[in-house]
Amino acid sequence: MCGIVGASGVHGAARIASLGLYALQHRGQEAAGISAVDDNGVARVQKVTGQIADGIDDEVLRGLPGDTALGHTRYSTAGGGGLVNAQPIVVRYHQGDMALVHNGNITNARTLRAELVEEGAIFQGTIDSEVIVHLIARSRAGNPDEEIREALSRLEGAFSVLITIGDTMYAARDARGFRPLVLGRLNGGMVAASETCALDLVGARFHCEVPPGAVIRIRGTEVTELEPLPPAPRQAPCIFELIYFARPDSNVFGKSVDRARRAFGRQLAREHPADADCVFSVPDSSNSAALGFAEESGIPLELGLIRNHYVGRTFIHPEQIGRDFKVRVKYNPVREVIEGKRVIVVDDSLVRGTTSKGLISLIRDAGAREVHFRVASPPVTNPCFYGIDMPTKQELIGARMAVGDIARHLNVDSLGYLSLEGMHQVVSEQGPFCDACFSGDYTAPLVDLGSGLAAASTC
Ligand code: AMP
Repeated sequence: MCGIVGASGVHGAARIASLGLYALQHRGQEAAGISAVDDNGVARVQKVTGQIADGIDDEVLRGLPGDTALGHTRYSTAGGGGLVNAQPIVVRYHQGDMALVHNGNITNARTLRAELVEEGAIFQGTIDSEVIVHLIARSRAGNPDEEIREALSRLEGAFSVLITIGDTMYAARDARGFRPLVLGRLNGGMVAASETCALDLVGARFHCEVPPGAVIRIRGTEVTELEPLPPAPRQAPCIFELIYFARPDSNVFGKSVDRARRAFGRQLAREHPADADCVFSVPDSSNSAALGFAEESGIPLELGLIRNHYVGRTFIHPEQIGRDFKVRVKYNPVREVIEGKRVIVVDDSLVRGTTSKGLISLIRDAGAREVHFRVASPPVTNPCFYGIDMPTKQELIGARMAVGDIARHLNVDSLGYLSLEGMHQVVSEQGPFCDACFSGDYTAPLVDLGSGLAAASTC
């Protein structure tokens, strides 16, 4: 998964993009990058491995002049690490300098790439997004608007993209609208971002969500909707954005993430009540759902687990500290809250089950009398091919075991998942959503899986 941001017609656009990336850092920490286009249409780019603060400083930003900029933060996905796969992708082609940032996973990228390679195209990395740049550059449509539309029309799967050609910015989303993308107004210019929390940070006023299938051209404050992409049979925004991925202070797909999570938590409390002394979350992604559970059940909300925010991605793993070290380095239970109590632990999702197993053993060690585990989403039974980094089906605990077996495996007194129907009911006004990770109903064709080609490195 990734976060994307763009600024057009804004003085010091690279600085705005860098601030936007701070707000979107939760969407990816593997690499970050910013491109900016100067008054002569020349695009410059700087990329760093790790987080935005790891290398994009004032000096770097001074080297990225111009009123148009893009930013990207990349999530760690299988295979495709390193700066070669970091974005923005910047190239020079017959219409001038082009830069692109992408969030999502193109499900026919391997097939398109094989075709392009056959025709003589040269690729630098393994990322699916590079295909888009080639398709634009090879289009014979004659003008950038049409080149972009033609290229995007050939893609299957999930893409929210921002592209600059010269100092014109384009914002587009696939016709199913899997990944979010919003526009805001700032000081006579426009800002685009994956989530509204980035608009808030830079002081931009929300303008609109980029509609699914839209291709929007932006020059300063001039916003023009071009002919949309061919329509999809149905829209399918990703429900997992609301469950886990997006920030609770964002509005995603026209819905407050906090409100959605609270409603999931309330519904969960109705479906799986438990007699207990307190409720607490697995911070931070489950905080809103736990609040909703506590509100609905009337059971007091406590802070039973404290999360360490300063754990880097790599740390030395001293074997002698034991099996649960990875969990212990991130979470510590508050003994005073837990000891002798019947506790309800609310988590947003259960994926492999390894974090939860470790957490429950910590909570038991802290003296819990009973542990009731509640998950504010249905069992994850299928991998995501549209951009959420999920393990293979074999690794998904919800695909391997029945709920009773999972409860025994986790060593909890009871386990309850939000039902699929209950989840959809909560967001029925915004739906329908893509729920493939819970239902196996893959709405967009998985071309490369059908052709036996492994999925490309995603973003
Ligand atoms: P586990 O069941 O051990 O795989 O971990 C589940 C926890 O990881 C949940 O509490 C989520 O907050 C978090 N989580 C869910 N999906 C993802 C994901 N795609 N990438 C990273 N963390 C995730």
